[in-house]
Amino acid sequence: MLAIHADAWFDGERLHHAPVTVCVQDGRIAAVHPGRLNLPGAEDVHVGFIMPGLVESHAHLFLDGHEQDPTRRQAHMEAGREVFLATGRRNLQRLRAAGITLVRDCGDRWGINHALRAMVDDRTTGRPDDRTLPQVRSAGIAIRRKGRYGSFMAEEVVDAASAAAAVRARADSDDIKIVMTGIIDFAAAAVKGGPQFDLSELSAMTSAARELGKPTVAHCSGREGIDIAVRAGIGSIEHGFFLDAELLDRMAAAGTAWTPTWIPVAWVREHPEACAVGPEGVAGLGRILDQHRANLLQAHRRGVAILAGSDAGSLGVRHGDGLHDDLAAYLEAGLPLPAVLAAATSVPRRVMGLPGGRLAAGEPADLAGFAASPLAGLSYLRRAAMTCIGGRIWRAEATTSHAAA
Ligand SMILES: [Zn+2]
Repeated sequence: MLAIHADAWFDGERLHHAPVTVCVQDGRIAAVHPGRLNLPGAEDVHVGFIMPGLVESHAHLFLDGHEQDPTRRQAHMEAGREVFLATGRRNLQRLRAAGITLVRDCGDRWGINHALRAMVDDRTTGRPDDRTLPQVRSAGIAIRRKGRYGSFMAEEVVDAASAAAAVRARADSDDIKIVMTGIIDFAAAAVKGGPQFDLSELSAMTSAARELGKPTVAHCSGREGIDIAVRAGIGSIEHGFFLDAELLDRMAAAGTAWTPTWIPVAWVREHPEACAVGPEGVAGLGRILDQHRANLLQAHRRGVAILAGSDAGSLGVRHGDGLHDDLAAYLEAGLPLPAVLAAATSVPRRVMGLPGGRLAAGEPADLAGFAASPLAGLSYLRRAAMTCIGGRIWRAEATTSHAAA
């Protein structure tokens, strides 16, 4: 039995400004006791704040976002499987140190995400340190239109039949990742090119995914592409720049989730020289981010499921820090603190159909502990004091881990 004592806590929906004792046994939360409880024989852990482990809903584990040199970023793409795996493993360690216990990898062309998932799932025979790494939810290789954006993460298809066949070949993917639109022209404040798939092609993919029992996630920005994605029944819109009130209403009605990935675009505005963005582009980025900020609050008010995701691995976006930068932006956009925390705990787990995300008896012991409550500042969540996955504790002070009885 493990007894985690904290001065304050978040249960997945609400903040509690009172001490709590969380008992963990056999990989599950056995009980949540208000106050400080002395449990004879239990191993005691003390933290300032305890909450469900954080979920990063959009990352590319094989990529290092903090590598900003274009030549080295390009060279990394040629580095090969062993380097990608080592990079992914380091990034999982960074995520763990940031209190993240589940990461949704949204695609890489080499399927490194699947390999990392297998490494982490091997909790008994793998390296001891790997046993407390975050759980990986893996899309495997994404799907894109031949010749269109997404070469680093996606396989090419040419029509509805080949697109549906590509979906059916993804029985080992946790999510089906579809590249629906291209990248953003910052100066024009618009998406480059039209949608990669029309309604009948995308519907062929979403129905093939439903037959497989897999959720769909779409890289998708711009009114035209999002309109088709919502019609086709996509599970979550990734990025979703240029959303508007009418689309948000339809997303709320259809139960379409949204992963806003605020930070990669905000980073470019702060570092325009890194992407050769001129003054017009910087002005366009300001308009894009103003609209995105307003849409975040509108989405929250409409009850759209917001999944906190940073697109970590993208230029400028570090694994771990990226999620916390995104959360800070949601708070700044006007979301209440409990809603910000829910976007990285209970909401993504509900949308992904996974248990956890709540601090309650019977839930999996997927937890993150911090030195202080985020009420004192969201930045207190940037560095975890401890994480717990299935009862296995990782502590920030030491790199060793062990299983709780
Ligand atoms: Zn991405």
